[in-house]
This record gives sequence, C-alpha cells and structure tokens, in this order.
Amino acid sequence: MQLENPIATTENCRYCLMCRHTCPVGFVTNLETLTPHGWGLTIASVKRGLISWNDETIDALYSCADCGLCRAHCVTDQPLPEAIAAARAEVAAQKLAPAMVYELDSALKTWGSPFAEQRPEPVTAQGEVALFVGDDARYLWPSALEAALALLKAAGVEPVLVGVGRNNGYLASSLGLQETAVSLARATLDEIKATGAKRLLVLTPGDYDAFHRLYDERLGLDWPEEVELMEVVDFLAQQVAAGHLHFHKVENGTPFAYVDPTHTVRVDGRYHAPRRLLTAVMGHSGVNMFWREDRAHPTGNNALQFTQPALSDQLTQARLVDAVQAGAGRIITEDPGCLAQLSRHAPQYGIQVEGLYELLASHLA
Ligand code: SF4
Ligand code: SF4
Repeated sequence: MQLENPIATTENCRYCLMCRHTCPVGFVTNLETLTPHGWGLTIASVKRGLISWNDETIDALYSCADCGLCRAHCVTDQPLPEAIAAARAEVAAQKLAPAMVYELDSALKTWGSPFAEQRPEPVTAQGEVALFVGDDARYLWPSALEAALALLKAAGVEPVLVGVGRNNGYLASSLGLQETAVSLARATLDEIKATGAKRLLVLTPGDYDAFHRLYDERLGLDWPEEVELMEVVDFLAQQVAAGHLHFHKVENGTPFAYVDPTHTVRVDGRYHAPRRLLTAVMGHSGVNMFWREDRAHPTGNNALQFTQPALSDQLTQARLVDAVQAGAGRIITEDPGCLAQLSRHAPQYGIQVEGLYELLASHLA
C-alpha cells in the first residue's frame, strides 16, 4: 500500500542516532548534516518554517544515496528514504531542484534512460518466463545480460525480455520525479502483462526491490499477483542445488571478494545465493568485506552519479578500499551498474573487477 505522508517520519528521525553509523554517505563525508538524523532535521525544520529550501539545504537534500541502510537498521521501520524522496518531490514540483534533475526528467520521459538517446525495445514475444533487462544491463554492462541468458539457457529457460533499455523507475523516484517514475513503471508492468509471463526474473536486488516494494509503497502501483518475482541468482542457486547446473572449477589463486550490490539491504535473505554460486565455481565464497550482507554499502550507481558525481565516486571508492582491506585482489558482483562504477576506479587500487554471471557462464560444464 502506498505510504501516506512519509515526510512525517522526519519528526521521528531528526534527533535519533540509532542508524547513523550505517549510513554510507555519513561514512564517506563525515558531515553530520549528511546522516539520517541530519536529513530528518533539515526536512522537519523546513516543514516547521525554521529554515527554507535554498542552495545549501537543497544540495544536502540531494546528497542522500537512497540506499535503504537507515530503514533496514531501524527497529521501528521508519521510511526515511521514502521521506527524503517525498521531500525532493515537493522541491522538484516547486522548480527548486538542481538543474540536472530536470535534464534527467526530460531524458527519462523521452528515452526511458539517461544513458542513451534510444527508446526501449518493443516487446512482441510471449512466454511463461520474462526477464527484466533495464538500462544498466542494456547500456553500461551488456555482457552481464548475455551471460545470464547463457546460464538460463543451460538450465532450460529462455525468457522473454522486457524493459530492454528502460530504467526501472528507481532513478526518477529517488530524484523526486514521481510522475515520471509512475510512467516508467506502468510501461514495464504493461509489457510484463503482454508477455503473459507467470514469473519475472531480475538481474539485481535493485530491480527486485523496485518491483517488490517501491512500486507499491512509493508509486501506488500493484504488482500482478499471478507473476512470481525472482532474482536470477536465486534461480541459478536453486538449479545448482538440484544438480541441474555444473561448473568447471576456476584455478586462480588471487584472493577475491564478493561485492553485495546496491540495494542488497532492501531484499531479505539474498546473502546466500550469490555466495553459493561463487562456491560452485571458485570452491569458496571469497574473503569477507566489512560492509556486506545486511550492512552492505552501495557503490555510486544511484542518482548521485548524476546529481553529486564526486560523492558517487567516494561511495564506489569506499567499496574498493573495503575490498583491499579484506585482502582481495579481485572483486566479483553481478549488478551491471555496480560493475560499471567499480571498473572505473578499480585500476587505482590494483584490483580486478569481474561479473558474476560472466564468470559462471564461462565455466559452464
Ligand atoms: S530511520 Fe529509524 S533509526 Fe534511523 S534516524 Fe529514523 S527513527 Fe532513527
Ligand atoms: S538512504 Fe542511505 S544515504 Fe540516505 S539517509 Fe538512509 S542510509 Fe543514509
């Protein structure tokens, strides 16, 4: 059900420090304004008429990564990321948001993505199983999609592709572009319906969370009850456990770490599947980064890459520092957006970046 008046949660957050230590933006900036209670206090103070939206407060408002760490660690499940997105929607409606927000709105409305001036591919096929591609996998890291399809084919599944080149709606929602987010979401829901699919596979936890929660809570859109939603990593891990997929073991002694993708903390119980897949091909799941599992920090593949690119880079670099400190010389993840960000910065840390789907597909037995 769509959240009613989520901004009211800032009254609860403004003097609460209970999730402060988990916030990745507070972690990399060391600025108290850029922590959960800092955002809560800023938004609540504007509501009370104590301060106003100006260049400084709007810059702070658009510095939250919308990563979900605060809410995931809140014992009373306060929807602070939703409150921040709702405050941004008010600011955007008043034409006070950064200019980049309106440029992104135009790109999303015209092309469905900020990454290419090309409309999403039309869907004409039908099938029991569909796979949401999105824009990261289409434009930033297409080898992840090719490899995922090869793995699914080896498991006997050839899905109909939907949302090819269309953002899942997260970006628009994060930026406060509610109408655009609804329009993108509706277009994808219509495509899923047209395929007749009973199962939708997704490549990332961000896609899963968009369909499972964000469409409902933020956009007021119902997920079709007859369609089962599932991450590709979960499906593949099931196939391995059932003995339907086998891999040649990798002989590479470089210590590696698995990077939990952005939005991992928003998806319950997704820790094991990618690590089981890694164990199937590498013999073990690698060394442990500190910010993993239910405290997994995001890389910079969120709205910050457009509105606050330096901050986005800091988030990605922090993931690489975490990997170095864990002793990894190689990092592996499946999220195309994370892979694109990590690969831009990895050389300066002497780290190799590799896609999980590509690694698995190249070692199919
Ligand atoms: S989200 Fe929860 S833990 Fe975090 S500041 Fe708000 S009330 Fe406190
Ligand atoms: S959504 Fe992420 S960046 Fe924003 S306040 Fe919460 S923990 Fe911090």
